[in-house]
Amino acid sequence: MTTMLHGHDTATTTAPVATVDLGAVAANTRVLAVRAGGELMAVVKADGFGHGAVPVARTALAHGATWLGVTSIVEAVQLREAGITAPVLSWLNPLSGDFATALRHRIDLAVPGAAHLALVAGAAETAGVRARVHLHLDVGMARDGASPAEWLALCRRAHDLERQGFVDVVGVMGHLGGAGEVADGLARFGHGVDVARSVGLRPRVRHLAATGALLDHPDTHLELCRVGAGLYGIDPTGRAGLRPTMTLTAPVVTVRDVAAGTPVGYGGTWSTPTATRLALLPLGYADGLPRAASGRAEVLLRGRRAPVVGTISMDQVVVDVGDLPVRPGDVAVVLGPGGLGGTGEPTAAEWAAWAGTIEHEILTGIGHRVQRVVR
Ligand SMILES: *Cc1c(COP(=O)(O)O)cnc(C)c1O
Repeated sequence: MTTMLHGHDTATTTAPVATVDLGAVAANTRVLAVRAGGELMAVVKADGFGHGAVPVARTALAHGATWLGVTSIVEAVQLREAGITAPVLSWLNPLSGDFATALRHRIDLAVPGAAHLALVAGAAETAGVRARVHLHLDVGMARDGASPAEWLALCRRAHDLERQGFVDVVGVMGHLGGAGEVADGLARFGHGVDVARSVGLRPRVRHLAATGALLDHPDTHLELCRVGAGLYGIDPTGRAGLRPTMTLTAPVVTVRDVAAGTPVGYGGTWSTPTATRLALLPLGYADGLPRAASGRAEVLLRGRRAPVVGTISMDQVVVDVGDLPVRPGDVAVVLGPGGLGGTGEPTAAEWAAWAGTIEHEILTGIGHRVQRVVR
């Protein structure tokens, strides 16, 4: 659920809140659109990387994106039901996917093989419409997309169905596995497009680049770039000037003064080395604080970093605030922009490092129990 709040809000003092900075999403979109040169697809899968798919989609469309991308048809329909009319691509569906519903909502569908193509074309024939499809080629990750071995047959079949009026092959897509695989992936993709054209297809958008390739490899841009991470301030290059978009806060529930040698949390994995003050925050791994960050994580309280101590629980964490005059109702900043634009709080990147993961997992992991507030 996403709430719009204006002026001072009480939400942050009564519950954990994830505040989404749509101004930062807008700024990131503008940077990425300029760098893309061609068209930009805003990837709002996984509820807009945990920020709220609809507000992020609207913001991105108002600041340079012209397409939206999601994995599932359910996510795509959610955008249509919010009144969004821009092209929406759904690229990951099982054969049992509800293609009829997708077509009714004018959702573009990625097709990773002949079985999907047949079902999508069948749904289009039944509905009396032409399905807009993007043929998806695996360019090296052995993950989603048609294998090079089945590509020619898939293109031929798509061309047949296009001539029969059941599909319109709008695009050809691929996805790169990482910086080391760009040259090979680009070559495989170029060959795949040549094959598609050789059988008579005329795809209008070729799309291969996500955030990393958009920022580092202009030769991959083609007509359309699909960007997720960059919209949310995740910058694999570290020099694109993207802004973090999420701040997670939680109110202090209680504070207690304890003696030296007091074990804290499940298993007593940590004990206070000296007499100190402990503050309790009402969020834990069910809310996206990775348990693997136990023993390393910090939060910002009263302008200072304080360590999270003991094992991170499902619903709560304990912070050793030392001699800080922390009181119940004070608000801890769990993560935020950090340096520029922040006040010294930890960033999603720091949480990722503490847990041995990537920022994407921190942002998308913020749980449903955390209220989203949009600014
Ligand atoms: C998630 C995803 C993207 C966006 O990638 P980022 O690295 O987040 O920009 C693009 N394409 C596909 C197929 C994806 O799954």
